[in-house]
Amino acid sequence: MSSVVLSGAAAVLRDASTVTYDRVVVDGGTIVAAPSGSGHESAGGAEIVDVSGCVVTPGLVNAHHHLLQSAFRSRPDTRSVPMRDWLARMSQRYSMIGVDPELTAAAASVALAESLLCGVTTVADHHLTWPRDQDPVTLAGATIGAARRVGARLVFVRGTARDDPDTAARSVSDIHDTHLPDARNGVTSDGMTQLAVGPSGVHADGPETFAALAEVAGSLGLRRRTQANEKIDVEIAAERYGRRPLDLLDEWGWLGEDVTVAHLCDVTDDEIALFARSGATATHAPGCDVPMGWGVARVAALTAAGVCVGLGTSGGGSNDAGHLLADARLAVQVSGLIGEPVTAATSLAMATGGSAAGLGRPELGHLRPGAAADLCVWECADVFDAGVADPVDGLLWAGPGRRPRDVMVGGRWVVRDGVLVTAESRTVAAELSSLLERREGR
Ligand SMILES: [Zn+2]
Repeated sequence: MSSVVLSGAAAVLRDASTVTYDRVVVDGGTIVAAPSGSGHESAGGAEIVDVSGCVVTPGLVNAHHHLLQSAFRSRPDTRSVPMRDWLARMSQRYSMIGVDPELTAAAASVALAESLLCGVTTVADHHLTWPRDQDPVTLAGATIGAARRVGARLVFVRGTARDDPDTAARSVSDIHDTHLPDARNGVTSDGMTQLAVGPSGVHADGPETFAALAEVAGSLGLRRRTQANEKIDVEIAAERYGRRPLDLLDEWGWLGEDVTVAHLCDVTDDEIALFARSGATATHAPGCDVPMGWGVARVAALTAAGVCVGLGTSGGGSNDAGHLLADARLAVQVSGLIGEPVTAATSLAMATGGSAAGLGRPELGHLRPGAAADLCVWECADVFDAGVADPVDGLLWAGPGRRPRDVMVGGRWVVRDGVLVTAESRTVAAELSSLLERREGR
């Protein structure tokens, strides 16, 4: 792989605490140190990319998505309804359209292409829909194939929602052996595919499922992921067990350093203390929690207690976009509502290093030497950014809905001048649209 030098940036966000104005030098898929006068431009015929007027950031890491739901966006019967109705209507729709490898691949290709075009280079897909008549290994392979097609890093989370515990656990081993045969701790040697496990939450799965998935995760060295404190999760935990979700997760051995919990709406001070003591990490998903009416996770309080917090969009059924930067902006905005403000810098740190830490991926989410060369070039010289006090803060505060000019994954350009170069994005969109039309009988 050839080397690339980005020079002239208005700012380079190396990590949460370091903004520099240096060049960024990429060699063989890795960020390398760039001492001034090192002569990288002349050595080895490096590609020189002019990034003047731009901010360079690490590729964003979406810690919580449900890629399949991109085939079921903005449906009127799922907007502004209680979650019990939302779950029932989504599941009716899944049955009507038919969840199989063809739909799974088409939806994942759309969602992952969208992610790259929005600057998201790694996506954790919490896949929760496993029809009994479908082979889980083939279904997982459809999503893994879609990620390879468009050039995104994928963390495939073998989720469950009322699945048989032993079948689910066995399929984790089968998916691992079939699709990630060379993986160590669930990550392939090229770092492009990772496998994790993830019950939907205590509202959907019992202690047997949590135990079975913990056991297989332990034997394969996989990360564990789940969800807690969506409104229905709190209600069902109270009805069924007379407890709060985090108390149950703690009792079932599902709060620990290898566990990441998404949502965490309206957690109490005691729950924040319990969570922090456990070493578990969190994923904030305001682009889902706010429209669903679940409340706002107390990100500033969690961070102050020492919890590492990442950022996710959740899926198209609740958040109709996979635009993580927009949700990083939303995280800043809604934090004011609960009187626990989050800064732009904190929110960007969640969307990069915070998410990566929860995935156990220290090479992702920053641009220090040795990092994987996943990065975004954001054009900041137009009217949208004029007058901002700080170009990095301006990424969130100004220019809502912005998309990056260029995006690189592992040293390979996947987006240039705002266009996906690994696949024709309009073709990817048309494939899903025509599949849905065909199955709806239109
Ligand atoms: Zn979710």
